[in-house]
Amino acid sequence: MEQAYFCPNCRGNRTRFGVISQTIHEVQKDPVNGEVLALTEEQPFVGMSGAAVRDVKCLSCGFVGQETMFINHAARYPRT
Ligand SMILES: [Zn+2]
Repeated sequence: MEQAYFCPNCRGNRTRFGVISQTIHEVQKDPVNGEVLALTEEQPFVGMSGAAVRDVKCLSCGFVGQETMFINHAARYPRT
């Protein structure tokens, strides 16, 4: 479900953001020389909560923070 964002830093932007999606790929490395012996394809990184871990950048002031900060700020100060 998509949720509204509100920048907690500049408090002026609700519309323009950069979403930074993290990915994970697993590697097996040689313990001596660090050579990569095997790796898996990149997948979306899912955190302990089971939700994708995303950071958000405010394209107005440049602030970068966890997506939940932007969602929580929008919920606290909903646009009427
Ligand atoms: Zn901002």
